[in-house]
Amino acid sequence: MTRGKEMVENFDYVILGAGLGGLSTAACLTRQGYKVAVLEQHYLPGGCCHTFSYGDYNFCADVHYIYKCGEGQAVKQFLDYIGRDVPFNSLNPDCIDRVITPDVDFRIPLDWEKFRDRLIATFPDETWGINLYCDEIKQLHQELQQLNQEMHWYDLEWSDWLSLPKYWHLFTKRKWTLQDLYDSTGLSLKLQALLAGQSGDYGLPPSEIALITHTSLVSDYAEGAYYPQHHFKHLVDSIVSVITEGGGVVKFSTPVQHIEVQNYRVVSVTAGGETYQADNAYISDLDPKLTVKLMHDSLALSKHEYRRLTNYDYSASAFNIYLGLDSRFDPQSYGIGNWNIWYYPNGNLNQLYQQQLRGNLQDPWIFLSCPTVKSREPGMAPDGHHVLEITTICPYEPFEQLHRKDAIAYKAQKRYVYQEIMESVRTLIPDIDKYIRMKIFGTPTTSEHYLGQPEGNIYGAKLIPQQIGLNRLGYKTELSNLYLVGASAGYPSVPGVICNGMDVAELLTGESIRNSPKPSVEMPV
Ligand SMILES: Cc1cc2nc3c(=O)[nH]c(=O)nc-3n(C[C@H](O)[C@H](O)[C@H](O)COP(=O)(O)OP(=O)(O)OC[C@H]3O[C@@H](n4cnc5c(N)ncnc54)[C@H](O)[C@@H]3O)c2cc1C
Repeated sequence: MTRGKEMVENFDYVILGAGLGGLSTAACLTRQGYKVAVLEQHYLPGGCCHTFSYGDYNFCADVHYIYKCGEGQAVKQFLDYIGRDVPFNSLNPDCIDRVITPDVDFRIPLDWEKFRDRLIATFPDETWGINLYCDEIKQLHQELQQLNQEMHWYDLEWSDWLSLPKYWHLFTKRKWTLQDLYDSTGLSLKLQALLAGQSGDYGLPPSEIALITHTSLVSDYAEGAYYPQHHFKHLVDSIVSVITEGGGVVKFSTPVQHIEVQNYRVVSVTAGGETYQADNAYISDLDPKLTVKLMHDSLALSKHEYRRLTNYDYSASAFNIYLGLDSRFDPQSYGIGNWNIWYYPNGNLNQLYQQQLRGNLQDPWIFLSCPTVKSREPGMAPDGHHVLEITTICPYEPFEQLHRKDAIAYKAQKRYVYQEIMESVRTLIPDIDKYIRMKIFGTPTTSEHYLGQPEGNIYGAKLIPQQIGLNRLGYKTELSNLYLVGASAGYPSVPGVICNGMDVAELLTGESIRNSPKPSVEMPV
């Protein structure tokens, strides 16, 4: 269609951003026969889950393991719905996460009760506190599951409020942090560190993380921890193929530059110099504050909605290291296997987080993963070689200032922080340097540049009690044809944003996705 001299492309739905939130919504809508356009600034799909190449090696930018991929679980339901078969490997059932602190070296197994038994067998003196902790998490998890089956937090109906008394216990814990639970159990600092060993999965220490978020994370991983057999690129490409084979388009290197709003409706989106219009709705996978900023109009939203969509705190930012190692490196001989390693040189996680976020990265905690052990399928490294991915949290501001003012100092700071983090890596692999064939590292400004993550935030809106549950932003906005789908609107993580995508598609069209029968053949998109 032509508007004046300007070319306007029309679709049923226009989706801003090709992260997994945007892509999963787009794939569900394509499956329902709608024509969609996905507009992405990067030259690759997947957002945080994209895979980039460097020399002979490939790295998934951010993602290391995921949950809810088993039969009947959300990721599997989604893939069944869009008609794609993406096989997953389980991480080692006896050890999905290995947590190392100055006091413990503990292997977290699958299965909550097995975890409890191992904790009690290893720390018999703390049986009382361990049982209090495990019982509380188990009860909260069951209540959360039941609540989610009974109602949609993002679309509550009046009748839903009548069921709330049933969830009184959950309700009383809505403002708790993990530290509140620790304080009520009398667990030692040693156990506190171990039980928060997966803390990097939400990027907060016990004193800040919402107990409910911690509960969901540790319980979901206890039920299944997975890595895609053909690596994350296959997962992302499979979703993209559903969209493109179904007549939709995924436009790369096409940054959204403007969202035109008139009379409380989006009328068009400008991206990469072209104008796109949606007959039904626009769905933004971009950060909500960024989405509002792109409206370039202080009157586009009411004051209340403007405040709601822009007044939240971001999660922390991260420093990522990607290493390509030669074939002499033998992961097993360093205790690296089909699991993740969490290494905390200081057993006081509250202190450690504070120290790092103040910019002191001496002896930082690190997360370390070797994807070439999680799946032996080709795709990540030359035959027999390995890839290591290492990450920790760090502040955004020092990098941002240097990046803006002094490119040389920025590069020097990057190299300095790399060396500091590598000190922690060398504690686990003393002779790591001799295996390194290539290295690349990313700061918070790298994430901001490539993924449009403001302040390099890793999990969207910070997962503190004040920003979860009914305080989460949700998918609907005041603009009747604008929906949000990313990590801050619903919940972060790959399964989290795939659920967001399914929820949004259901809200838009009313078609049930999770309970839909599995297509008997590959979907005729
Ligand atoms: C370091 C790190 C480690 C993680 N590890 C795990 C893990 O092991 N397991 C797990 O499940 N989850 C993990 N996560 C979380 C998970 O990756 C994210 O929560 C999820 O992928 C976010 O998806 P999204 O769709 O909300 O956003 P994103 O993935 O951020 O996608 C947003 C997309 O929008 C695009 N965009 C931004 N601005 C514009 C614009 N103006 N125009 C067009 N496009 C634009 C971006 O380029 C991007 O592609 C990790 C995250 C990080 C950062």
